[in-house]
Amino acid sequence: MDERYSRQILFNGIGEEGQRRLLAARVLIVGCGALGSAHAESLARAGVGHLRIVDRDFVEPSNLQRQTLFTESDAEKRLPKAIAAANHLHEINSEIEVEPHILDVNHSTIEQLIKDCDVVVDGTDNFATRYLINDACVKHDINWIYGAAVGSYGVTMTIRPHETVCLRCVFEEAPPAASAPTCDTAGVIMPIINIVSAVQVSEAIKLITDHVEALHGSLMQFDVWRNEWRRIGPGMPRADCSTCRLGVFETLEQAGEGVAVLCGRDAIQISPAQTTRINFSNLAERLSRAGEVKFNEYLLRFKTGNFELTVFQDARSIIRGTDEIAIARSLYAKYIGT
Ligand SMILES: [Zn+2]
Repeated sequence: MDERYSRQILFNGIGEEGQRRLLAARVLIVGCGALGSAHAESLARAGVGHLRIVDRDFVEPSNLQRQTLFTESDAEKRLPKAIAAANHLHEINSEIEVEPHILDVNHSTIEQLIKDCDVVVDGTDNFATRYLINDACVKHDINWIYGAAVGSYGVTMTIRPHETVCLRCVFEEAPPAASAPTCDTAGVIMPIINIVSAVQVSEAIKLITDHVEALHGSLMQFDVWRNEWRRIGPGMPRADCSTCRLGVFETLEQAGEGVAVLCGRDAIQISPAQTTRINFSNLAERLSRAGEVKFNEYLLRFKTGNFELTVFQDARSIIRGTDEIAIARSLYAKYIGT
């Protein structure tokens, strides 16, 4: 331990005791795209002993510009991001445990995922999932670190339930879908990812090593193109916040089939209402009459006309070639039909 982590142990804020805490820590990274892969690499190198990584997607060539953990070979094989990340993290630090989950984070999975974690680090790209993280973390009193980046702009905030403001205190509602820029409409450049992730990971390390006094305590914003940097807050929890004051966790209650428009993808994800397990060879045989099918142990890919369906073992599917939910639903019903 001493040699690998020697420079970090020399650092006053960490020391031997801090390093022991890092090695004993369990961190959940939600989403392993650009931010998530930056978090994962830094935390693995820092020696966080247990990293749980959850992501619903697979690696594609357009990810490689900013998702630094992935390689061309991962994109060629269309490996699920959680698996590709775990493979590379193992090469970076074989002494830590990495637990990959190929999974959609939703009302039925989030509480199980955060349970037993010391801190949750946001690597998602959408507000719906962040409210879910906020609800679950406030309910179970787990610290979490919000982070987002689009274009050259990024923002982050550290939430300690009942001590600081929560996400719902600051953003009572998600910005209307069409009003906010996304990676889809505004693109994103890698340097802003590095900055936001660097602050999120620093905050995670402070929390794990018990240096609450060093947290930045604000909504921190950056723009690497306009050369702007500012902090707002900290502010007090809102007296009427439905989440952290009234204890209403509405996102944890929602059931039924889940549909999500995926950022930057011309794609829609459909999750079945009921859990099921797909037999890829049976499905491949059935679909081979209607188009081109390929599968590996994690996912099945089916091309028909201008559409491409990627089906995971739990029947969750990503339908590419449309951003219309109705079209995606009908393709799902027609070909997967669970
Ligand atoms: Zn709140």
